[in-house]
Amino acid sequence: MKKMALHWKIILGMVLGVLVGLLMTTFDGGKEIVQDWIKPFGKMFINCLKMIAIPLILAALIKGVSDLRDISKLSKMGGRTIGVYIITTVIAVTIGLMLVNIVQPGKAISKETRTEMIENYSGDTTKYKETAKDQKNAGPLKALEDLVPENLFKAATDNGNMLQIIFFAIFFGVSLILIPEEKGKTVKSFFDGFNEVILKMVDLIMLAAPYGVFALLAAIVVESPSIDLFIALSWYAITVVGGLLLMICIYITIVYVFTKKSPRFFLDGISPAQLLAFSTSSSAATLPVTMERVTEHLGVEEEVSSFVLPIGATINMDGTSLYQAVAAVFIAQAFGMELDFATQLGIIATATLASIGSAAVPGAGMVMLVGVLGYAGIPEAGLALIFAVDRPLDMCRTVVNVTGDATVSMVVAKSVGKLGEPKPKNWDDNYEAV
Ligand code: ASP
Repeated sequence: MKKMALHWKIILGMVLGVLVGLLMTTFDGGKEIVQDWIKPFGKMFINCLKMIAIPLILAALIKGVSDLRDISKLSKMGGRTIGVYIITTVIAVTIGLMLVNIVQPGKAISKETRTEMIENYSGDTTKYKETAKDQKNAGPLKALEDLVPENLFKAATDNGNMLQIIFFAIFFGVSLILIPEEKGKTVKSFFDGFNEVILKMVDLIMLAAPYGVFALLAAIVVESPSIDLFIALSWYAITVVGGLLLMICIYITIVYVFTKKSPRFFLDGISPAQLLAFSTSSSAATLPVTMERVTEHLGVEEEVSSFVLPIGATINMDGTSLYQAVAAVFIAQAFGMELDFATQLGIIATATLASIGSAAVPGAGMVMLVGVLGYAGIPEAGLALIFAVDRPLDMCRTVVNVTGDATVSMVVAKSVGKLGEPKPKNWDDNYEAV
C-alpha cells in the first residue's frame, strides 16, 4: 500500500466506492446511510478543491502574466492558446456529429418511449427555461459584456464567474508589468509566494483524494436512476463515450506529434487529474490538480501552465462540445426530425460557443445545450430524454475537457520553448509514502 502510485490509490477508492454504493442499494435504509455518513466526506473533498480554485486562478495568472515581462510574448502565447483551443473544440464537435449521424442512436427510441419519458420526467426544468430565455434575450455582444466584472468579489462568489476573474487577473498582471520593476517587486513576490502556498494546499488535499473519490462514487451510485433507462439510452451513451475515447486518442497523437512525448508518459502524468475529473465532474474543481500534474509531471513550465490552464478550464471544453452535438442530433432523431447539412454546420458553431460558455461545474453542459437546441429548432422537451444518463456522461466528458487542456498546454509550451523535463516536488514523492 505504501508504495502504490497515486492514480492506483484513486482507482481503488473509486472501485470500492462503487461496490459499497451497490451494496447499500440492496437493503432499505442503505441509501440514507451513504447520504448521511459517507457523502459528506466527498462533499468536503470537492469543496476543498473548489475553495482553492479561485485564489489559484488569481495567483497563478497574475504570476504567469507578470513573469513574462513582455507584452508581445504574452499576446503571442495568448493568441496561440485561444487558437489551439478553438481548433480542438471544432474537431471534437465534428467528431460528435459524424458519429451521431453514423450510429443514429435516436432512431432506436420509439414514439411511445419518447412520450413516456417526457411525461415521467421529474427533473427541475426551471433552470433550462431560464437559460433559454436569457439566451434569447441576449444581444450579440452579451458574451463580451459579461467578461468585465462590475465587482471582483461578486464574481468570486457562488460558483464563481471564472472568465471575469481571469479578466481581472490578466489585467492586473499586465499592469504589474507596466509599472517600474522596483515598485512592483513586493507585489510580485507576494503572488509568487501565494501561488506556492496554494500548490502546497493541493498536495495536501490530494492525500485525501482516494477517500474523497470513494465517498463521491458511493453517493453517485446510490443516487443514480434505474438501470432500465440506461439500457434504453445505451446507443446514445455509447456514441458519446465512443467520441470521447476517440478524442483521448487524438490528444495522445497530438502530444506525440508535437512534443515527441510518449502516450505512457502523458497518461501517467495526467491520470490523477483525469480520475479526479471523473469523480467530481468539474474542471474547475480539478484545476488545481491539473496545474500541478502538468507543471511537475509533464514538464510544462509554470509560466505557460499558469496562463494556459485556468483559461482552458473555463473556455476549452472539447468533451462538452462533442456531447452537445451528439445530444442535439440524438434528440432531433428521437423526434423524427431531419437536420440538413447547413443546420448541422450551424450546430458546430453553436456547440463550440455553448461549450465556451459552459461553466466548469457539474451539469453545466446540459444547461447550455438548450442554446444549441434553440438554434436548430429542436424541442427542448427532449432534454427529458437524456437527463437520466447525464451524470455518468458528465463524468466522462469532464475527463476529456481536462485532458484537452493538458494537451494544449504541452503544445503551446513546446511552441514557445517552455517544455522541459518533469520535476516532481518533494511532496509528490510523499504521495507514494502515504
Ligand atoms: N462538467 C463539465 C466540466 O466541468 C462541464 C459540463 O459539460 O457539464 O468540465
